[in-house]
Amino acid sequence: LISRKWRVEPTQIDLGDGVLIGEGNFSVMAGPCSIESERQIELVVEHLKANDVKIMRGGVFKPRSSPYAFRGLGIDGLKMFHRICHENGIKIITEVMQVSQIEDMINYVDVFQVGARNSQNFNLLDALGEAQKPVLLKRGISGTLEELLQAAEYIFSNGNEKIMLCERGIRSYENAYRNVLDLNAVPVLKAKSHLPVIVDPSHGIGLRDHVEPMALAAVMAGADGVIYETHQKPEEAFSDGQQTLNFKESERLINRMRQAYALR
Ligand code: PEP
Ligand code: MN
Repeated sequence: LISRKWRVEPTQIDLGDGVLIGEGNFSVMAGPCSIESERQIELVVEHLKANDVKIMRGGVFKPRSSPYAFRGLGIDGLKMFHRICHENGIKIITEVMQVSQIEDMINYVDVFQVGARNSQNFNLLDALGEAQKPVLLKRGISGTLEELLQAAEYIFSNGNEKIMLCERGIRSYENAYRNVLDLNAVPVLKAKSHLPVIVDPSHGIGLRDHVEPMALAAVMAGADGVIYETHQKPEEAFSDGQQTLNFKESERLINRMRQAYALR
């Protein structure tokens, strides 16, 4: 069902209020790795509004490698995130980690993110297929494109067609950077599937100084959007500060991505 053989026309996802993802639109989704405080949300929202960005990312349930690391503000954090974004006309994308969270989260979310670690949590994918809420589905840490497409098929076949595929880098033997952002995936996924393709250069390379060139490369490779991490003070971020842009860097990136998209 997610194949171009079944549907030739590209799928567009409507988040409401004129926010469209896919064919003919380039979507910027930005925000911190983790939602940390009311003040932080306000500062990021202000930055996004100043740059005409309509979608804010931010995790409240965080999958962390160490159980002792910051694991997010949870549902109370999500309600605060939703209230501030809603007041400011900004849409929310945030990660859902398990089936039982869907019901609690659904009224406070515009797009559910399925993280790399949950990319093949088939019960979660089934449940999101029944949930009628847009989903950004990340590629698994060592996932093949076929596995990503089959994961999307789980959601689609349960009746939810609002899916974005997300390339966020795959693990390799190379340790000069966090992951290998596989931009080959962009044209290949676009050819195989009618679903929008989004690239995450922050997790893809994991190094702040190199997020911009990889984001621009993603635009030229044909991505329908880019999702990246930004924070008012990246060096103080609760998670992923090393790959997070400050607002000045973020503004420059937004402008350059839009210029690049216009050249496509
Ligand atoms: C994130 O978006 O902060 C995140 C945890 O992403 P991923 O699942 O790609 O590691
Ligand atoms: Mn992160």
